[in-house]
Amino acid sequence: MEHPENNEVYKGLIVNAGIEQPSSVNPYLKNRPKRKRRELSVADFVEGIVKGDVTVLSQAVTLVESVKPDHQVVAQEVIEKCLPYSGNSVRIGISGVPGAGKSTSIDVFGVHVLEKYGGKLAVLAIDPSSERSKGSILGDKTRMEQLSVHPNSFIRPSPSAGSLGGVARKTRETIVLCEATGFDKIFVETVGVGQSETAVHSMVDFFLLIQLAGTGDELQGIKRGIMEMADGIVINKADGDNLERAKLAATQFRNALHLFPAPESGWKPQVLTYSGFYNLGVKEVWDMVYKYIDFVKENGYFEYRRNEQSKYWMYETINEQLRDSFYHNPQIQKMLEEKEGQVLQGNLTSFVAAKNLLDTYFDGLKS
Ligand code: GDP
Repeated sequence: MEHPENNEVYKGLIVNAGIEQPSSVNPYLKNRPKRKRRELSVADFVEGIVKGDVTVLSQAVTLVESVKPDHQVVAQEVIEKCLPYSGNSVRIGISGVPGAGKSTSIDVFGVHVLEKYGGKLAVLAIDPSSERSKGSILGDKTRMEQLSVHPNSFIRPSPSAGSLGGVARKTRETIVLCEATGFDKIFVETVGVGQSETAVHSMVDFFLLIQLAGTGDELQGIKRGIMEMADGIVINKADGDNLERAKLAATQFRNALHLFPAPESGWKPQVLTYSGFYNLGVKEVWDMVYKYIDFVKENGYFEYRRNEQSKYWMYETINEQLRDSFYHNPQIQKMLEEKEGQVLQGNLTSFVAAKNLLDTYFDGLKS
């Protein structure tokens, strides 16, 4: 009596003994050799990248983004070997609040610069929210219809793991790899929310801020620091009924920019209106960007800014790795909660707690 239902007092359906089922796996598959992708060596990566192989580039970027320590070792070596082939590009940061029209614009901008100036374009992104939302929408191919099928473009969404600093560093490293692959135009997209602009600003030659004409108080909503970073402000959606309002907004931005101290570059940030959707005024936006590049190459600021950025990234990387090493230290991890509790209960001041933790960390390094 395998089933209680088969007890004679049971009046319901009778369950028959089952029959053996054939395996759902095709037995012939077993003998087929598994196709495992051969792991590329550092030399393979570098060779592929320098040859301009975009598939190898993609794989290298995946390594850069990986959190696995052995992937990081290979990635760092590849980056180091690619460095001599990098740098020969124009790097543009493009920022704007969600809905400002970044993806629509980047699609049109990208096609324009490729047609007018030739070369190859890589679109990368820094999305600080992607860690929480597990996956970034910035730099998403589906949002850039023309560019995504363009033979000379490479689109890569934001890396999603880690802190903003970590995400930004990975994007910065990806720039090196893209340049070594032969991409001479780099767009770095970000959402206009504050900190991520600073990160993008620290890796581009020109920072383009996309704004919208709105309710007349657009200037209040935008942080002063962000405006000060911009080398160009462009008011999108200057089309149809919105045209006059866009022009008015442009005037307001121009007036506001007058109040800021002159930028170090000697360049006066420009304000233009355009429509990404209807492809109006796009040429003027890019004439401005390239005018700036010529201007700063001439006066030496281009080189200066890149050197300052290299310095910045050296310190950023040190800070990040020190922080990581500290917080991943098992002894510190054990102690942190206890010290935090003591601080919260008022048994220890914040400074003493920090000192105890740091002393433990540094003593551990010595032993
Ligand atoms: P993102 O969130 O900044 O990437 O913005 P999107 O590119 O997704 O654009 C947001 C919305 O604005 C979409 O519905 C677009 O069709 C619309 N849009 C983008 N550019 C323009 C433009 O130049 N004119 C008008 N009228 N609408 C636009």
